[in-house]
Amino acid sequence: MLVVMDINATSEQIDKVIEIITKMGLIAHPIPGRHRTAIGVTGNAGRVDSTRIEILPGVREVIHVTKPYKLASIEMKPERTVVEVGGVEIGGRRPVIIEGPCSVESKEQLLEAADIVLDAGADMLRGGAFKPRTSPYDFQGLGLEGLKILVKAREKTGLPIVSEAIDIESFHLVERYVDIIQIGARNMQNFELLRKAGRSQRPILLKRGMSATLLELLLAAEYIMSEGNYNVILCERGIKTFSDASRYTLDLSSIPELRTLTHLPVIVDPSHAAGKRHIVLPLARASLAAGSDGLIMEMHPRPEEALCDAAQAIPPDAFREFMFEIGMGDRPVLRPVQGVN
Ligand code: PEP
Ligand code: MN
Repeated sequence: MLVVMDINATSEQIDKVIEIITKMGLIAHPIPGRHRTAIGVTGNAGRVDSTRIEILPGVREVIHVTKPYKLASIEMKPERTVVEVGGVEIGGRRPVIIEGPCSVESKEQLLEAADIVLDAGADMLRGGAFKPRTSPYDFQGLGLEGLKILVKAREKTGLPIVSEAIDIESFHLVERYVDIIQIGARNMQNFELLRKAGRSQRPILLKRGMSATLLELLLAAEYIMSEGNYNVILCERGIKTFSDASRYTLDLSSIPELRTLTHLPVIVDPSHAAGKRHIVLPLARASLAAGSDGLIMEMHPRPEEALCDAAQAIPPDAFREFMFEIGMGDRPVLRPVQGVN
């Protein structure tokens, strides 16, 4: 349920509505907007009898939200959410570019990558310190040391940093060091982790599970928002289909569709969808054309040496050229880049 207040409603009137909602055993989520203040109501199993609220001074209307996800739904908030991180706006007028290696491998590797990311004109730096790997024998990430290296890169470049938490234990650490906490595809339905993310002050980058529907993705976002963290960024990263063209199939339709269902920003990870270097940038272009609020991609200073996801890492020159092509870089790369479209 959504309680829409009059434009001129006083803060006392808003507080009174919140008080009554709380007395009814429900949870009030004030949603300030440019044109109105609204109060989202959750915690009810069925339809709430709203007559007690409708008669309160300052209340313009009460809307019953029909979707199972409430706080994430566009019915609750028609204005698009803009997540602000270290001076960068995600969901604003311009797509954001988050770039960096799959994983933090060493101080030298990450600082080199960070310089390239900054120089190319991107907005944020990515790098996994805790890696969810399919095989227990693969490189699992540098853990805490990796987070400390990311902080060094932020100090050097000023780029906000994005890194993944894979469980509650790593969440505590990641939260302390990074600007945006990523919850990966494999954890999209780790409900305990989602609730934990909901109690964090940091924005959450929530990736779509590789077998998840949009409804499941939005309900996962709802887990986070229902705990009070409304700074959620959704990420399409490819789903499992029978196509063997790429590692996963990038569900491009999800971008315009999510924009009709939710006010949350939606970005795309073409790297994990592609799985192969030459497919990454074509998918990146297609994502921007489909209305993505940004991209998160993997670039490695020397892709052939990458300890994780080497086949999908694009080289620095291809990335610089792409940034120039989309009007965000300031210098064309004159050499042809081999093996990358
Ligand atoms: C990653 O971003 O490095 C990652 C593991 O992504 P995903 O969860 O989408 O597989
Ligand atoms: Mn990766």
